[in-house]
Amino acid sequence: MSAQPSQPTAPQAIGHYIDGRRHAGRGASTPSYNPATGDVIGAIAMATPAEVNAAVKVAAEAFHGWSQTSPLKRARVMFRFKELIERDMDKLAAVITREHGKVFSDAKGEVTRGLEVVEYACGIPELLKGEYTEQIGSDIDAWTMRQPLGVCAGITPFNFPAMVPMWMFPMALACGNSFVLKPSERDPSASLMLAELLKEAGLPDGVFNVVQGDKTAVDALLDHPGIRAVSFVGSTPIAEYIYARGTAAGKRVQALGGAKNHMIVMPDADIEKAADALIGAGYGAAGERCMAISVAVAVGDATADQLVAKLTPKVHTLRIGNGMDAHVEMGPVITAQHRDKITGYIEDGVAAGASLVVDGRGHRVAGCEQGFFLGGSLFDHVRPDMRIYREEIFGPVLCVVRVPDFAAALKLVNDHEYGNGTAIFTRDGHVAREFAHRVQVGMIGINVPIPVPMAFHSFGGWKKSLFGDHHAHGPEGVRFYTRQKAVTQRWLASEGSRGPEFAMPTH
Ligand code: NAD
Repeated sequence: MSAQPSQPTAPQAIGHYIDGRRHAGRGASTPSYNPATGDVIGAIAMATPAEVNAAVKVAAEAFHGWSQTSPLKRARVMFRFKELIERDMDKLAAVITREHGKVFSDAKGEVTRGLEVVEYACGIPELLKGEYTEQIGSDIDAWTMRQPLGVCAGITPFNFPAMVPMWMFPMALACGNSFVLKPSERDPSASLMLAELLKEAGLPDGVFNVVQGDKTAVDALLDHPGIRAVSFVGSTPIAEYIYARGTAAGKRVQALGGAKNHMIVMPDADIEKAADALIGAGYGAAGERCMAISVAVAVGDATADQLVAKLTPKVHTLRIGNGMDAHVEMGPVITAQHRDKITGYIEDGVAAGASLVVDGRGHRVAGCEQGFFLGGSLFDHVRPDMRIYREEIFGPVLCVVRVPDFAAALKLVNDHEYGNGTAIFTRDGHVAREFAHRVQVGMIGINVPIPVPMAFHSFGGWKKSLFGDHHAHGPEGVRFYTRQKAVTQRWLASEGSRGPEFAMPTH
């Protein structure tokens, strides 16, 4: 695919999807942009509390029938949904690139990672099988089963407008729940397309609904007594807020937050491979990934010098532009405000004394002068007390921190408040094992820079990167979207009571 010249068309009205059809929405609208051109392309209706209530009501009614539908039939809807996503993969990816800015191949990659959760959800008849023990006492058997919760809500971030919702709703629906999704107001269209594909796949109306909106819609979901569980992915302050307010209202909540992911480069690592890994993991999707590597921890000055020498020309020559152009490696960031915030961090790093080896500020892309572009930035000699080290920048800025040895590298990672992902590059199996064993982080890569677990495992960080007990998708997704019931039964061959028993039954 290649980029079309910017067409100044009227912004498209984007509303909700409730009870199997699109609704224009009655709330005030907010603009959405094509970050590559700066054009306003959408006018998104922000849901009012009344509209949120309407969606929850519809979902609650739909839950009765859907939860009674056999897991086999629910799986068949997922099988069809999978085929439809494959059919429309390019359309979905193009919409994501248009609203988010990431390159088209990366947008396809995100849809594929979401699709893999759908594939996992196709196995729901197997996944929902309970446990059974025959004859736990005379004429007594026991078993467990997992039942759906009711109406579940998902609140999702801008950086993966298809994949993160698909971490949630395929599992929730396959388990027998109904769902209300509140996608990011920055890139709302992929969720509406997915809703239509679900309908085409045979999902009954009302089982899956989308409300666009901001804090007003989110608060209405958090406070609604009809919502049983909330899945959130976004920044840490909002994750903390969602967790506190949702659990206070008696809901089950999983809230995945921000990150500051470190990659340790040991002196024995293949520096060329480590540098390439850092370029992809640091600057891919303009650094707007929760699993992006934003800190390279170089063990020893010699390692750091070699690493910075390898990184510098690669950062200078990043191909930056409209994500629809096939040769482009890095697109724009999401908004002009976000670009300015990142620029502010770079200024802060310089003022704090870090060495700005490559300065990505003020980057211009010919033909896209109004786009929200930044070049790649590379800092060396970053110290842990600096704001550029402590805070999540969420942009194409890589910080190199120099440490004397492995113990100092490990301590650095463990002392950071975030614990989403981390990686080590080394040829030493013992060091790699020690790292995986001792590091206080949820997802670890060994010579793998972005260790995102596959759909049949579960995704989640530690510390301030996740609030709640369950990770996303995989077996943890099944546990989150169901609750367990244990049944104990006795059938005697003949009628008649043995009389009351007052002691605790034992065997
Ligand atoms: P965000 O926290 O600003 O928004 C996330 C969602 O919360 C959106 O739907 C938004 O409308 C809503 N929201 C925003 N402010 C709110 C408020 N005051 N009250 C209630 N709801 C509110 O995050 P973002 O900028 O869209 O996404 C980037 C962040 O998401 C980064 O911090 C990134 O690390 C994080 N993220 C984490 C993971 C993970 O798995 N841990 C995955 C993807 C993104």
